[in-house]
Amino acid sequence: MRRIPVPPGYLDDLNPGDPLTLPAEQAHYLRDVLRARPEDRVELFDGRGVCAYGQVLSVDEELRLRIRRVEKVEKGESPLAITLFQAIPKGKRWEWILEKATELGVQRIVPLQTDRTVVQVPDERIPGKMKRWKKILTSAARQCGRSRVPELSRPLSMSDARESCEVDIDLVAHPGPGARLPSSILNQSELDISTVGLWIGPEGGFEDREIQRLKTFGARPISLGPRILRADTAGITALTLLQSAAGDLADQ
Ligand code: SAM
Repeated sequence: MRRIPVPPGYLDDLNPGDPLTLPAEQAHYLRDVLRARPEDRVELFDGRGVCAYGQVLSVDEELRLRIRRVEKVEKGESPLAITLFQAIPKGKRWEWILEKATELGVQRIVPLQTDRTVVQVPDERIPGKMKRWKKILTSAARQCGRSRVPELSRPLSMSDARESCEVDIDLVAHPGPGARLPSSILNQSELDISTVGLWIGPEGGFEDREIQRLKTFGARPISLGPRILRADTAGITALTLLQSAAGDLADQ
């Protein structure tokens, strides 16, 4: 079945049996990219857990569907809600992180501005960047079968990032004495953890004072093994280890 992302709220007033003319962008995607034909089955998803299932009626300038059912669906969503706080690396690596983090079930992403973050996005370029980044998240969610698109924050300083959401525990990837593998923290039976803030430093690492500050917020240092990983590898490895320790890559 072909999956088409639609804007949040777009499916709210739909009912089974309704005909629907898709907006131009979605019509183009279904007709010209996915090469849909009359009678093909289609799933529309709004990125917030509402899906509509229908069938193509006609494929011409206007692409028309008949809606069969509309329902709330939680597909591909982890019981461990992870917010990834990550400094933006150079070049295409950030976009790769957005895509892979979505595939690994991240719930929310906060681009971090740290002291050593090389990529500082000027204010006037933020709306354009956010639009492109959201498109990457939506496309990754469509491809991997998730019913929700991860939330994306605008770039924030570490203090603003910490204040932007509440979590049960913050874990900061920082090799060194005292850092433990995520599983040995998350699997402690006295902790009941369903929300995690995962902090990944920039290419040059966090400054010592930034680590101290995160520790004053209660963050616990985690190790990602004996080798120093590039920032993009570190974020994706940490997400995998968290999902494996207490999320949807763990034995239930
Ligand atoms: N020279 C930097 C340093 O010593 O901190 C290396 C930074 S590393 C390229 C980028 C980020 O990835 C680090 O700030 C940390 O958050 C994470 N990281 C990489 N390897 C790690 C490891 N083995 N354990 C924990 N965190 C790691």
